[in-house]
Amino acid sequence: MTLKTILVTTALVTTLATSALAEGLVGIAMPTKSSARWISDGESMVEQFEAAGYETILQYAEDDIPNQLAQIENMITNGVDALVIAAIDGTTLSNALENASFAGIEVIAYDRLIRDSAHVSYYATFDNFKVGVQQAETLVTGLQERFPDAETWNVELFGGSPDDNNAYFFYDGGMSVLQPLIDSGKVSIVSGQMGMDTVGTLRWDGAVAQARMDNLLSAHYTDTQVHGVLSPYDGLSIGILSSLKGVGYGSGDTPMPIVTGQDAEVPSVKSILAGEQYSTIFKDTRELARVTVGMVEAVLQGSEPEINDTSTYDNGVKVVPSYLLEPLKVTADNWEERLIDSGYYTMDQIQ
Ligand code: BGC
Repeated sequence: MTLKTILVTTALVTTLATSALAEGLVGIAMPTKSSARWISDGESMVEQFEAAGYETILQYAEDDIPNQLAQIENMITNGVDALVIAAIDGTTLSNALENASFAGIEVIAYDRLIRDSAHVSYYATFDNFKVGVQQAETLVTGLQERFPDAETWNVELFGGSPDDNNAYFFYDGGMSVLQPLIDSGKVSIVSGQMGMDTVGTLRWDGAVAQARMDNLLSAHYTDTQVHGVLSPYDGLSIGILSSLKGVGYGSGDTPMPIVTGQDAEVPSVKSILAGEQYSTIFKDTRELARVTVGMVEAVLQGSEPEINDTSTYDNGVKVVPSYLLEPLKVTADNWEERLIDSGYYTMDQIQ
């Protein structure tokens, strides 16, 4: 045997031995690759599950519900021991999860709550209400900084996808800060458009948000200025900013309104540095992966995972025990500390 053959043979034997000895097989169903955060989520989980001795199947469904259902059914057929699911539509998985339950598969809801099913063991996420609070707090701070002399701040509201349970938490968190200012007359929602059924953005689609912002500007802002936009996600913020730039905001003597966001995606961090988007919310997906891997390990070993919330996330059938991580505000003042010093991005990715 040559040295090369020995090495190859050893590698093969090691692989076989590893797979025979794997702690289990985990199916990871993610919503879409169109947003970078889900790519990081998937990569971090595969890395951390493998380091813990698990094998993984990772799939993305490009925001297509039947596609995600088919992927989950395939994972069940492939004999996964656990499913980690970030649902596209949190209400459409009941049948698939029934099948998972028959097959004795543990289900963890990842980032987004899975609704209307008893077969969800645990939920790993961030404090979603707090995300909304932080978004609105940065909006108000930005308004104070940029428009200190305005008697009333003209603001428009955007919501996330109505089929994503998180979207309601973000909106409600945001309104807990803004409603008192609306009641006192300090903030005016000039279009009058409020409530998730009016301001929601199906599938978190930036083009839909951009088109709605275009309409708001032409219907309500031809003779008055918009000062702020509550946007729940960076992908929407970028669309909203394009719309604003299209009618001259951010140039000449028309300042850019304060626009919020979420996920600290690279285009938005660049936009913050360019003085366009005002803020985003950083949710460290490496941490979410770590919590999730811990949950899966615990349930497969028959022990209790660490949880820190047993009351907030009622999915319509049961309150799902949860672990909530802390979101962090990011602005031009602290992006480097939050995103570079933490190792989430390298400087090259941002500049
Ligand atoms: C996530 C957010 C994300 C949004 C759009 C939500 O469920 O919690 O982090 O911005 O989906 O992908």
